[in-house]
Amino acid sequence: MVRVGQFLLIGRAIVVLQLIPGILGWGKEGHYATCKIAEGLLSEDALDAVKGYLPDSAESDLAALCSWPDEIRHDFHWHWTGPLHYVDTPDFRCNYDYCRDCHDSYGHKDRCVTGAINNYTMQLLSAGHAAMGYNLTEALLFLSHFIGDVHQPLHVGFTGDAGGNTVVVRWYRRKTNLHHVWDNMIIESALKTFYSSNLSNMIQTIQKKISDSWSNDISSWANCSSNDTVCPDPYASESIHLACKFAYRNATPGTTLGDDYFLSRLPVVEKRLAQGGVRLAATLNRIFSSQPSIAQE
Ligand SMILES: [Zn+2]
Ligand SMILES: [Zn+2]
Repeated sequence: MVRVGQFLLIGRAIVVLQLIPGILGWGKEGHYATCKIAEGLLSEDALDAVKGYLPDSAESDLAALCSWPDEIRHDFHWHWTGPLHYVDTPDFRCNYDYCRDCHDSYGHKDRCVTGAINNYTMQLLSAGHAAMGYNLTEALLFLSHFIGDVHQPLHVGFTGDAGGNTVVVRWYRRKTNLHHVWDNMIIESALKTFYSSNLSNMIQTIQKKISDSWSNDISSWANCSSNDTVCPDPYASESIHLACKFAYRNATPGTTLGDDYFLSRLPVVEKRLAQGGVRLAATLNRIFSSQPSIAQE
């Protein structure tokens, strides 16, 4: 009996974990925005390559499929991709270290968001080596999604509260958790309050800031040190710093978050969406500019 009881308990714990909302990444709007911003910054070569890998259903629009990894994550066949959406760091340390932190809950190395970004970049770079057998449509969609996720500060949050998922707070009157606030609620409230509930308006405003007030920062956002094709580690470090400075601050369990929190955090969210878009474009531009010479081999 004891054994059966324990088994049921474990089974129930797993079900509860799967039902926690918002464990997946920026919500649909955040991922759409990141990919839409990236699309506008792609080189001709990268745009051609991206269109070539997209299924017809996407109608040549990468943004339309950027939430696909969230949609399939609960399918049995794709269950293994769950830990690839985030990386957990030690509680209250406010820093990130690939070797220390990039593993799943079983301790398997490289199974975290930064490891996944490296892996899917490598797969796309291998295009032309037909023997590799990678599905490059999937690689493109995972890479585009995970570069968005690593910019959501609480996707590089504390292990003990599952990146804010177990921190129960109120968003105005609604009971939710801190992770969900950062995936969805800040963006949803911004859409209602400032953008007539129109996501295109919000994206255009962010694009305008990229070409105006942030224009001097774009090259430092886009570049990787030591000329790497992709460099997710500094993005993860930025995220955990922002998580400590803005997400966790004044948001202890039971807090009601309202105007003060919303208005001071929205600029952080908008900048992270911008950086995610700029860096996704820069990464795809680098991947697909080196393609021809590889394809000739
Ligand atoms: Zn995700
Ligand atoms: Zn999330």
